[in-house]
Amino acid sequence: QDHRDPTVIHTAHPRCLIKDFEKRPSVIHLLEHPFIKQVHGKDMAFQRQLAKLIQTQQQSGSIAKTRYERMHTKRPYVLNTSENCCLDDDLVNLEVLDEDTIIHQLQTRYADLQIYTYVGDILIALNPFQNLSIYSPQFSKLYHGVKRSSNPPHIFASADAAYQGMVTFCKDQCIIISGESGAGKTESAHLIVQHLTFLGKANNRALREKILQVNPLVEAFGNACTVINDNSSRFGKYLEMMFTPTGAVMGAKISEYLLEKSRVIKQAVGEKNFHIFYYIYAGLHHHKKLSEYRLPENKPPRYIDNETGTVMKDIITKESYRRQFAAIQHCFRIIGFSSEEVHSVYRILAGILNTGNIEFTAISSKHQTDKSEVPNGEALENASALLSIGSEELQEALTSHCVVTRGETIIRTNTVDKAADVRDAMSKALYGRLFSWIVNRINTLLQPDKNICNAESGMNVGILDIFGFENFKRNSFEQLCINIANEQIQFYFNQHIFALEQMEYQSDGIDAALVTYEDNRPLLDTFLQKPMGLLSLLDEESRFPQATDQTLVDKFEDNLRSKYFWRPKGVELCFGIQHYAGKVLYNACGFLEKNRDTLPADIVVVLRTSENKLLQQLFSSPLTKTGNLAQSRARVTAASRSLPPQLNAGRIKVDTMEMMRHPEETTNMKRQTVASYFRYSLMDLLSKMVVGQPHFVRCIKPNDDREAMKFSRERVLMQLRYTGILETVSIRRQGYSHRILFEDFVKRYYYLAFKAHENPPATRQSCTSILEKAKLDKWVLGRTKVFLKYYHVEQLNLLLREVI
Ligand code: ADP
Ligand code: MG
Repeated sequence: QDHRDPTVIHTAHPRCLIKDFEKRPSVIHLLEHPFIKQVHGKDMAFQRQLAKLIQTQQQSGSIAKTRYERMHTKRPYVLNTSENCCLDDDLVNLEVLDEDTIIHQLQTRYADLQIYTYVGDILIALNPFQNLSIYSPQFSKLYHGVKRSSNPPHIFASADAAYQGMVTFCKDQCIIISGESGAGKTESAHLIVQHLTFLGKANNRALREKILQVNPLVEAFGNACTVINDNSSRFGKYLEMMFTPTGAVMGAKISEYLLEKSRVIKQAVGEKNFHIFYYIYAGLHHHKKLSEYRLPENKPPRYIDNETGTVMKDIITKESYRRQFAAIQHCFRIIGFSSEEVHSVYRILAGILNTGNIEFTAISSKHQTDKSEVPNGEALENASALLSIGSEELQEALTSHCVVTRGETIIRTNTVDKAADVRDAMSKALYGRLFSWIVNRINTLLQPDKNICNAESGMNVGILDIFGFENFKRNSFEQLCINIANEQIQFYFNQHIFALEQMEYQSDGIDAALVTYEDNRPLLDTFLQKPMGLLSLLDEESRFPQATDQTLVDKFEDNLRSKYFWRPKGVELCFGIQHYAGKVLYNACGFLEKNRDTLPADIVVVLRTSENKLLQQLFSSPLTKTGNLAQSRARVTAASRSLPPQLNAGRIKVDTMEMMRHPEETTNMKRQTVASYFRYSLMDLLSKMVVGQPHFVRCIKPNDDREAMKFSRERVLMQLRYTGILETVSIRRQGYSHRILFEDFVKRYYYLAFKAHENPPATRQSCTSILEKAKLDKWVLGRTKVFLKYYHVEQLNLLLREVI
């Protein structure tokens, strides 16, 4: 029989087909298979052909060994009777491991809509830029507690691995999703939450519903349209899903990092404000409530009027905004916000938009030229009414400020520019605190029910979705922070994959071929070191009232002795950094102001007088962020004990000076800058990550045009290079991703070689007996540990399940 039978058409993942077919060899069953449905739906011609093929195959009895292989786009798969089916699911299996082969492999798979590929236990996810029907409940069932190799690579498999890891080893897990902006991190995070809620089936349906609404709600407030991504996350998010010891979902908690507040007051060309502002406009218009919220109907408020020529009609009649508004209302309700709370949230949002419309003009008299006033009171009135504060008090706080010198309080007037800055600072503070409040409130509403399970005995899976590396034409303070965060995550990845691996081999007396990798630690030091790191220098300069952005860049140049920093000639206020992901040129214009992020005390005083309870709460000082410093510190200390010194040294340390206060809060104590708060957040995040067993998902953007089926080799290669995937391939292949102490190994697997009543000692011999009985090969025994390849553990667990 000709094994290149052209009757086999573009079809599903072969291994699924074969496996299912072995179990229940019926054509009907096969046609119901989700993969077949995905590709062919109700294509009758295909079904007939498939039926015919299967009959012939049954007769020749070779179906179990068939393999579909891509040949040509028109008839992409033909039969092949090779035994090694689907080795290409995992790049580690490739015989040749050069860049070309790897790219070719990914490209071929992408053309077949196989967007997921493993590199050992890391998952690569290529953004398909089109909706695939591979995330239905049928697929969830497919990826439920099975051996990884039974199914094609999938984001659900990563969620399943984390879940199984948590339940089996009673250990917290974390899934770290990384990649450039627009690579698919946020979508992947959603899918993971979706699958984890499926796996952690609680009897409590309401809770599941709530958890699923968390992401959409938070993203309405934290995401925005950028030039790269229409739904770009402008904050970092760590979502922890908590489970009972038996694996039922019992609650969730989010931590947010570095919301890009500056977007509220200004957006770059071609970009928009946070989604929620457009949603409420369209939604409230639909419900005829714009006037109740004092939102102007003729012209969009300045904060959302980025493009000249934006007309109100475009915003209020946009169907998708209206639908999103309805969705947000639904989220609020399901999660458990009261209608009073939601009403307050909308009022504050509308208050911010009106605040943005307040304008100032100079009053010049003979003696005073630096005084400002509000010429047209409408926006001021509206803002004050919405925020439930007095309009005169607000005007005072915007146009003047108190200075205390030698016990005397003097009132100084603000210039027009200064008044506008104060106005914008107020809007940013309002939005930032509102966002934190929403997150905190969600956490309260989703915390585990004490009656069901004690939170301490539970375990969790954390999902990190943090903004990707950014490199625009013009890069500012925000990009710097984002890119430092990415450096830190890359460092953690490197440590996990490379350094720890080598150290363990060596310490257990195993010879490991030294694998070289690009260590970004020197660069991290350039940023984070005290007192001479970039962030410290920035803080120092921010404390001098006379400092300018120019003196700041000079200070960097004079003090940063790093090959990763340079100052380009002839470009004012610019400095360059050689990041792991490429060179970035930063423009320091506005750095000092952004870092200081000051909110004058006068404004805080006025806002505290608000009759809106929520607003009062936002400014009752100091608003602490989610989490608790003592807890966080304890976690870090515990984590650092179990970490090798290389990862630990000086990096993960709680600095007690850096408290969890909102940066703009001005008190008598040392002022909290954005940089120091950022450093704290980063540390806090890392402390959460290091205690869990990590799983990495690397998202890759196949092209910059957001087009389906378009694969740019150069772009993919670039991302593979700087994310360390190419190096990962080689180390994973050589490496042993599981190292288990003899004691734990014997305890866990002794059933495989010993009887239940036997009590084998935790020795090399016992381990060897088990490994030999399990017929594994290529394992190694160190001095204290069994070193296994990532697929060994899977095989062992499977055997164990059969025995027990
Ligand atoms: P990131 O968070 O990395 O910036 P997103 O997750 O927001 O990127 O993805 C950007 C866009 O790419 C999404 O809005 C969506 O259109 C598309 N996309 C990403 N992942 C998928 C997927 N698995 N299936 C379909 N479309 C996707
Ligand atoms: Mg995102």
